[in-house]
Amino acid sequence: MTAVQQETGRVADVVAQAGRRRTFAVISHPDAGKSTLTEALALHAAAIEQAGAVHGKAGRRGVASDWMEMERDRGISITSSVLRFEFGDTLLNLLDTPGHADFSEDTYRVLAAVDAAIMLLDSAKGLEAQTLKLFDVCRHRGIPVITFVNKWDRPGREPLELLDEVEQRIGLHPAPLNWPVGVAGDFRGLIDRASGAYTRYRRTPGGATRAIEETLPAERAAAEEGDAWHTAQEELALIAEIGADLDPEAYRAGICTPVLFGAALPNFGVRDLLEAVRALAPAPMPRTGADGRERPVDGPFSGQVFKVQAGMDRAHRDRLAFIRVCSGRFERGMTVVHEPTGRPLVTKYAQTVFGRDRSTLDVAYPGDVIGLPNAAGLTVGDTVYVKTPIAYPPIPSFAPEHFMVARVRDNGRAKQFRRGIDQLGAEGAVQVLRSDVRGDQAPVLAAVGPLQFEVVQHRMEEEFGAPVELTRLDYTTARVTDQASLDALAGRRGVEVLTRALDGTLLAVFSDKWRLRSIEREHPGITLTPLLAAG
Ligand code: GDP
Repeated sequence: MTAVQQETGRVADVVAQAGRRRTFAVISHPDAGKSTLTEALALHAAAIEQAGAVHGKAGRRGVASDWMEMERDRGISITSSVLRFEFGDTLLNLLDTPGHADFSEDTYRVLAAVDAAIMLLDSAKGLEAQTLKLFDVCRHRGIPVITFVNKWDRPGREPLELLDEVEQRIGLHPAPLNWPVGVAGDFRGLIDRASGAYTRYRRTPGGATRAIEETLPAERAAAEEGDAWHTAQEELALIAEIGADLDPEAYRAGICTPVLFGAALPNFGVRDLLEAVRALAPAPMPRTGADGRERPVDGPFSGQVFKVQAGMDRAHRDRLAFIRVCSGRFERGMTVVHEPTGRPLVTKYAQTVFGRDRSTLDVAYPGDVIGLPNAAGLTVGDTVYVKTPIAYPPIPSFAPEHFMVARVRDNGRAKQFRRGIDQLGAEGAVQVLRSDVRGDQAPVLAAVGPLQFEVVQHRMEEEFGAPVELTRLDYTTARVTDQASLDALAGRRGVEVLTRALDGTLLAVFSDKWRLRSIEREHPGITLTPLLAAG
């Protein structure tokens, strides 16, 4: 084979492999059913034998990890990972976000690595606080959203009312792909809007395996489902009238959201959701570098770190950097350049992180996630590449809503304290804010969710040998400000200006929104820019 033929083959391979990948995340409020849906999706795609084996709220495996202990103690999921499953000829990468009321920046950052999202709603609750925050990030990043209305087997709200809420509150035009027959709580089945086919569902005992599905012709469905069928037909006629039809272009442009009804626990409508992801969600697209130039999907390998997970394995103190492949073919063992430092990086130990398991990863394509263990110096947002240099735009820091002063418990450990805080700040585990007034010994730690503080406390003690004492500060809101605005902010009660250690950004923090608004009113020219996803 000539070099040209080889190169042509390589490009065709990358294009085909990228084209069959769908990389997505599920955004939801705690308890909407994300873990259950994840299991149901994987079950349908036959990645696992039985629902329950992936997240294993019931049956966790005994991996020796600090996080596992914290997770077990608190019954929450901190570590996130990637689930990979084949669905027909499509390869789905589901990037798991930690699911708990205690938000962390990691939850947001995962959205920097996906091409699409499923917005999961509880049929009884509709849009909830954290779903809205995460949706804001999707909108900001141009990530198209498919909506799945879950728990249809339980009493909930009217389908038309839920569509209305989506349209009114977040301005997305809903386009239902299927329609429920039977009110929530007396769920009979789903009508596929495009084909008109009716699929009746029967629960399987315990709901742990795939539901029994039965396709009925319209006449039989009408006879057997009675009023429920006629109501559904009326509703369908109504939505057809208002023109709620799917426009794939509008979906990709973030104007419209395909909506599916179903129930993850008994596995109703989950296959329809998979079909929708396969048919509609975009495959990896060329990404634009900070200089505005595009890296074609079939260009030389490049990727971006979107998450760093430290201390997953107590015995090895390892740090795992999660890299989303943006272009080209990755091969384990290739030497890549770490863009911020220009240093070469060895990838001999590249891994996949599947559920709780890690295994060696030999090849990866755009849309895939590589785990690099012990990649010292890799931080969130860093680009790695081969051949032609590229730097992807940084992953934004999110608006902190919780603030603590950190102090070392034992003054003899001041050096370890400083090193640990610097390291955690550089990793993005927490935002480290300093000021001359407070001094180096008492930095302010800022977080999106309080869970991040627990992680800091744990790691400072276990990893850096410097137990810390954290004292809550009364701030709730932060804005980016500048030197020229300092005078207007100085000496006010409930206001403080701090410098973010990571990038030197000046952050003004406020005890409440009223104080912020009164300053804005008094000083109309002042710079107080909201951060992304400010609450
Ligand atoms: P997460 O916090 O979003 O991961 O939510 P979980 O997946 O842990 O689900 C929260 C609760 O809702 C659990 O008790 C689930 O069994 C239940 N649940 C999830 N999906 C459904 C569903 O489709 N129907 C019913 N009835 N319950 C569900």
